[in-house]
Amino acid sequence: MIANRGLSSGFEKRLTSKRLRALISLVGICSFATIGSASVESAHSTSTDEWVAMPSDLHWVRNAAEYKALTQQIYAAATKELEARVASGEFEGKRWGVSMDADETVLDNSLEAKERRGAEFRLDVWQDWCRRVEAPAVPGSVAFIRRVKALGGNVAIVSNRSVMVQEATEANLEKLGVPFDVVLLKDEADEKEPRWELVESGAAIAGLEAFEIVMYFGDNIKDFPKLTQGLASDGAATEFEEFGRKFFVLPNPVYGSFASNSKL
Ligand SMILES: [Mg+2]
Repeated sequence: MIANRGLSSGFEKRLTSKRLRALISLVGICSFATIGSASVESAHSTSTDEWVAMPSDLHWVRNAAEYKALTQQIYAAATKELEARVASGEFEGKRWGVSMDADETVLDNSLEAKERRGAEFRLDVWQDWCRRVEAPAVPGSVAFIRRVKALGGNVAIVSNRSVMVQEATEANLEKLGVPFDVVLLKDEADEKEPRWELVESGAAIAGLEAFEIVMYFGDNIKDFPKLTQGLASDGAATEFEEFGRKFFVLPNPVYGSFASNSKL
């Protein structure tokens, strides 16, 4: 006890010295500098134990030049194809337009995935993200959609975001300067076919006449009429023929219906 008290007393004396206080301050600054980036990284952490490092798929989408090149390549090819089809007279005398999925096709939600740090998807967390209206555009998408409008086409955003975030989704698209005629989100069914039928029959919303959907865009195989993950194992080459002409698929290695496919 005496020794302890002596040690304590001596330590207190040393603690009062200006030199030691300066040393403690320096240690504090160094510690903050060392962990500063980790502190910022974990600000939104919900499962730090699982998050060892940003996984390659998310890193690629957020930071690879190849991702940005690829999405712009897809939209450039789509623009060229659309211009050629318009010039050919294929759409003369009829109302036409395109179907665009939203997430990872027009809206880049990779920041939400980064902030989740590997935690399970949660609908409430996702909808909070949607309501922040902070998703940037997938590179190339806005210019393409504007080109559709300039060529006389219509734009239907057909997404499986919930109708609960209708207002926020439209606000995010408007913030990015995306012109659209209708945004059809998910009310009940995951399948998009009923919503495409509404568009093509003129029953989607009041004031929007029926138009034929001549191109479909999405990052999930289900963003294309009648297509499923079955294509991955059973698809004949002919079933892919519409890609590059009528169907344009955007890359999304982070999530999607592919995730439950067999891992061969
Ligand atoms: Mg999507």
